[in-house]
Order: sequence, then structure tokens, then C-alpha cells
Amino acid sequence: MLTETIKKFVSRLFSTQPRGPERLSADKHGIDRRNVSRHAIKVCEVLQQEGFAAFIVGGAVRDLIVGLEPKDFDVATNATPNQVRALFRRARIIGKRFQLVHVVFGQEIIETSTFRANATAADTQTDEHGRILRDNLFGTQEEDAARRDFTLNALYYDPITEEVIDYHQGVPDLKKRVVRMIGDPEQRYREDPVRMLRALRFAAKLNATLDPATREPIARMAQLIENVPASRLFDEILKLLTCGHAMDCLRQLRSVGLHKGLIPLIDIIFEEKGGEQFVDLALARTDARVRAGKTISPSFLFAALLWKLVNKRWESLINAGEPPVQALVQAADSVIDEQTEKLAIQRRFQSDMREIWFMQARFDRTPPKAIWRMAEQPRFRAAVDFLQLRAEAREVDSVQAQWWMDLANTDDALRAEMIEAYAEQYRTRGSTGPRKRRSGRRRSGGAGTRTRAATESMQP
Ligand code: ATP
Ligand code: MG
Repeated sequence: MLTETIKKFVSRLFSTQPRGPERLSADKHGIDRRNVSRHAIKVCEVLQQEGFAAFIVGGAVRDLIVGLEPKDFDVATNATPNQVRALFRRARIIGKRFQLVHVVFGQEIIETSTFRANATAADTQTDEHGRILRDNLFGTQEEDAARRDFTLNALYYDPITEEVIDYHQGVPDLKKRVVRMIGDPEQRYREDPVRMLRALRFAAKLNATLDPATREPIARMAQLIENVPASRLFDEILKLLTCGHAMDCLRQLRSVGLHKGLIPLIDIIFEEKGGEQFVDLALARTDARVRAGKTISPSFLFAALLWKLVNKRWESLINAGEPPVQALVQAADSVIDEQTEKLAIQRRFQSDMREIWFMQARFDRTPPKAIWRMAEQPRFRAAVDFLQLRAEAREVDSVQAQWWMDLANTDDALRAEMIEAYAEQYRTRGSTGPRKRRSGRRRSGGAGTRTRAATESMQP
């Protein structure tokens, strides 16, 4: 055994042949070609017919090997962007700094990029912390593999031969569920601190561990994240929160101190009474939606993350004598201002967050006439979802939350009935909002039956 190892080592030492990549056939990597986007196959086929090298790369190959459904398919090739564009009817070059080509097939876009060389600090521009500012060199496939972040992200799948080309033992790492940085981890984090977030995300998403050398520098280098432009951070943090294992990611972030430059308020939120539980509930819902293949609204997610803080300030402003609606506006403004200094939540998300929050003040003591207007607002559905989340966290009455949910789910005729019943109650009892049903809860039945039950129970 030992002599074998020594022999191998010696032969490698004296070998003049550079060690090529591993080439794995389908029975070794296990990708079922039927799970591969036919458009991505098409792009590779066309490029290969023209004599270029072309492979599916990155996240799609990784996900296919472990049996997850890839989010999207990227292609890497030795053809230049102009050469790629010329071969497809609907293709456009995007990006100034590093150009890549979007090949469009109906709804699907195949992002096709030319092999890039590993930009080392020596031949590229970096900031004073060593972060790479420009990396726009074309390179060979081998160089392209070396500039990628983790071994399991540096795999190339040829959909024609069905081979996976593996320069960095990514397939064995993937099978062992180890996230391992290519090259020297410390240097690679310095070049691009976002890789620290990516390491945690892939570990959570793949249920993998971080290789010790990949893990070790993170806590030490965490503060470098503060030099990354806010818009890029926002994108990565959103990916992290929508990877299907959000709470796990958030805990990991906190355990290595990476959250400080990202969601600085998260510490305060976790310290709030019920804060952690609220975030936990919100993220569990998000994870469930992601795993069921549903879409996630970033506004809802950030509205939920920051809610406890908004709620606390809202309450104290009300206690100070401010009318509820104005108090909520003030609370929302102050939290958003503080938070977006670092995280750059885009404006369109900010205004949706505000709408979701503001409607929370209107679910109580709603005059019947105002309900129609509320129900027509574009964020009504999200706001009702949010109310339900608050009910789950025992912040508001769950029957009341369900009444609004039924209202959101129903058609106009039933909606009219519900509002009518509620209006009557409002008149006779001077009720301050859709209140508890008197009869026992009905659990089963679809939205329709529940709607009926809710309608009936509103009758005085
Ligand atoms: P996801 O499932 O989130 O899309 P992904 O691995 O496809 O995961 P992308 O951000 O789409 O992630 O990047 C595609 C590929 O580009 C990665 O698999 C990796 O090889 C490479 N890459 C992305 N970001 C970096 C980075 N910061 N440093 C080095 N390589 C990177
Ligand atoms: Mg991707």
C-alpha cells in the first residue's frame, strides 16, 4: 500500500506529462441526460459542430449529479462572444466588463461564456484589501476550471459524449459532500469575499461539510465582506435566503460572524422577544416554497426579517400617542433607513415591503367599505400572507387572519357575502374588526368550505 503510494508519487514527480483532468462516463457520474435542458444541449451541439469546445458547467452539473433540479443551465466554450452570437438566431451579448452571450429560447436563457483565465492579483487590478476589481481575460478550459470557486462547481458536462470533465476532483468531493475551495482558500477569499457566503450556502444546500482548510479562514476574514459593493451582496444574500435551507444558512452566518456586515440588525432581531421564532417561521415558509418549486418574493422575505424591529418601534410610537397608521409609517422608515445603508435593498422591493407592513395596520378596525379597496391593492395577497405569518407567531388572532385569507382566496360573489356579513356585525356590535367565530373551528375542507364557514360565522 505504502510502496504503491510512493511509486505513484515518484512517477508523478518524474512524469513530463501534465496530469490531465479526469473524464468520467455516465455510469460514474450518474447524470441522466433526460434531466438536461434540451436548449443547453442544443447550444453545445451547435458550437461543437462548428469545431468549438462547449460544455454545460457550474451549478447545473453539480445539481444534476446529486439529483437536484438545476435552477438554470450555463454553457462554457472556447468560442468568443462574437463567434457565439453569430451562430444563434436569438442571441445577445451582455456585460461590459466580461462579455457573455444570452442565447434565448422562449422562456429559457442559456448563458454562454467564453473560458476565462484565473485572474491573479499580480496581473489584475485589486483594491487595497486584495479584492479583484477586473478579471476579463479569456483563457483555456483548464484555466477556466482553476478560476472557479469550489471543486464541485468546476465540472464540465459534455451532453454529446455524456462525459464529465473534472480537473479538481470535484466529483469525489461532491459524492462525499465536501465543499472545498480550489487553490489557497485565504487568497481566494481575499480576491472575492463573497466566496465566504457561497461556501456556507453550498454547504447548507447540499447538506455538505466545509473542508477544514476552506472553513478555517472565514471567521478570521469575515470583515472583508464589508468592502463588497452592496448590490452584489444583496444578490448573494438573496440566493442564500432562497436556497431552500435559509435558517441553517443564517445560523451559520452568525456562528462565523459573517452576518455583521450583511444584516446588521439581525442580532437585535434575534434578541427581541419572539424575534428568532418569527424569523424561523418566515424562513421555514420560504424554504417550503422553494422546495415545492414556487416563487419567492424578496420583499416578503425582507419584510419578515425586519418585522420584529418595525413592530417594536410601531408599538412604542403608539404608546407615545402617535395614531397607529402614522406610527407604522415612521417605524418602517427608520428601520429601512438603517438597514439599507449596508444591504442596498432595491427601491422597488422597499416600496413593496412598506405596503406589506402598512396594510398590517388596516387589518384591524377596518370599516367595511374600506375592505374592497384594500382587496384591490396589488400587495393585498402578500399582506394577508404576512398576517397569517403573524398569526402563526401568535401575534394576532388566527381566526381573524384566516378570515382575511379566505377573503383573498375567494371570488367576488363570495367576497361580497363575507363583507356583507361582516358589515352587519360591524353595525350591530360596533365591532372593531372581523372577529372570532363563535362556533368551533372547522379544520377540513378546501378554501371554499372554509369561506362558507367564515361567512356564516360572521352573521350576528
Ligand atoms: P446556483 O445554483 O446558485 O446558480 P451556481 O454554482 O450556478 O449556483 P452561479 O452564481 O450561478 O452559482 O455561478 C456559476 C458558476 O460560476 C459557479 O458554479 C462557479 O463555478 C462560478 N462562480 C460563480 N461565482 C464565483 C465566484 N465568486 N468565484 C469563483 N467562481 C465563481
Ligand atoms: Mg447558476
